[in-house]
Amino acid sequence: MPYRAVFRCIAGCPGDHPLDQPLYRCPTCHDLLEVVHDLDALRHRSAAAWMRLFDDRYKRTTWPYGSSVWGKKEWVCPDVDDEAIVSMDEGGTNLLWAERFGKELGLDDLWVKQCGNSHTGSFKDLGMTVLVSVVRHMIRKGRPVRAVVCASTGDTSASLAAYAAAAGIPSVVVLPRGRVSTAQLLQPLANGSHVLSIDTDFDGCMRLVQRLVEEEGFYLANSMNSLRIEGQKTVAIELVQQWDWEVPDVVIIPGGNLGNVSALGAGFDMMEALGVTSKRPRIVVAQSAQANPLYLAYQRGWAFEPVEARPTLATAIQIGNPVSVAKAIRTLQRYDGIVEQATEAELANAAAQADRSGMFNCPHTGVALAVLKKLVARGEIGARDRVIVISTASGLKFPEFKQRYHEQTLPLPSEFANRPVGLPADFDEVRRAVDRLIPA
Ligand SMILES: *Cc1c(COP(=O)(O)O)cnc(C)c1O
Ligand SMILES: [Zn+2]
Repeated sequence: MPYRAVFRCIAGCPGDHPLDQPLYRCPTCHDLLEVVHDLDALRHRSAAAWMRLFDDRYKRTTWPYGSSVWGKKEWVCPDVDDEAIVSMDEGGTNLLWAERFGKELGLDDLWVKQCGNSHTGSFKDLGMTVLVSVVRHMIRKGRPVRAVVCASTGDTSASLAAYAAAAGIPSVVVLPRGRVSTAQLLQPLANGSHVLSIDTDFDGCMRLVQRLVEEEGFYLANSMNSLRIEGQKTVAIELVQQWDWEVPDVVIIPGGNLGNVSALGAGFDMMEALGVTSKRPRIVVAQSAQANPLYLAYQRGWAFEPVEARPTLATAIQIGNPVSVAKAIRTLQRYDGIVEQATEAELANAAAQADRSGMFNCPHTGVALAVLKKLVARGEIGARDRVIVISTASGLKFPEFKQRYHEQTLPLPSEFANRPVGLPADFDEVRRAVDRLIPA
């Protein structure tokens, strides 16, 4: 069956553009593009047959379908040759029942999707495998690519560097100097990427990258490139699949450049269009109060203005002028969307509170958890609602955040600080200490 997907303008300009053409904006009106699938062709297989096919492939060994992104290849990027695919076994991450944390909040059915348990430690791998595979497909078809480039707040660059290195394709990553974690800086260095550390913020890096793409002919790996969205959207499909194809009532996701909220919507749209699901969840975007342009737009009936993003512990979402805002608003309007924000103290304490129930949350997941707490307190999320929080990165990528929180050197009250107890190698001292800490 010849499945087909093309780029199309989100503003409705006529014209289909092939996915293996470097194209990031509509050539007519300059608006964003999206990938559109031939749904009629996909409908030749029933919803039940698609679900069975995806379940049969899930985490199995047949290349490339064991990856939960490529296990859904027909829905993601059907035209790329299997031999061109650059996969490091994306997706299939644990969706855990946050029983104790949920109870503390008064929720019976709270789940956290641990997307950070991925090759480079963030959910960016889901989209990057698709983008780098298409680049390798282009190169194999005789169209050279000088290098793939991205601006990043740390996770996109780690992911691009790893996938480009796996494919043997040169990469350039442009980072705001001093604003990514040590681990996030070391990842692209280790993978041999050309790392440009610039004295500006993410929005400034993005402007430089756009010129590298336009004037130097580099291939763009930021989420303005809709190929990334096609991979990222599998998170929606995967979490429904993990619930035996049941749809949650609410999904909460932290948002910065806002590609991922539209990816989430695109995944739910496709399942509905192909009869796999028959209801939609409510989608909530969680922003840092230090970088909250979408929150402000939501307050104003979606009238959007960029802001100057201020420093936040949630560095991966410190973005004032999100590239994909138009797509995000469109998604939220269809998914009964909510946008809420979290302060630095709220995000740090929510992450730490949930850590006390066995998680190890990154600050962005902290933003989502803090927003969850607010919506429960306001009654916008009810005790019976089935809620999934998307945890976007591993806390292990942000040791400085955890260290400063528990050392109480952040400019906020660390409500759940826990410090090591230093003792001499003396059993009496140890016994006195445990008697004090854990009364018998
Ligand atoms: C990229 C990223 C986000 C936000 O995704 P956007 O598409 O930029 O909104 C959230 N959390 C982490 C850890 C990320 O790396
Ligand atoms: Zn257009």
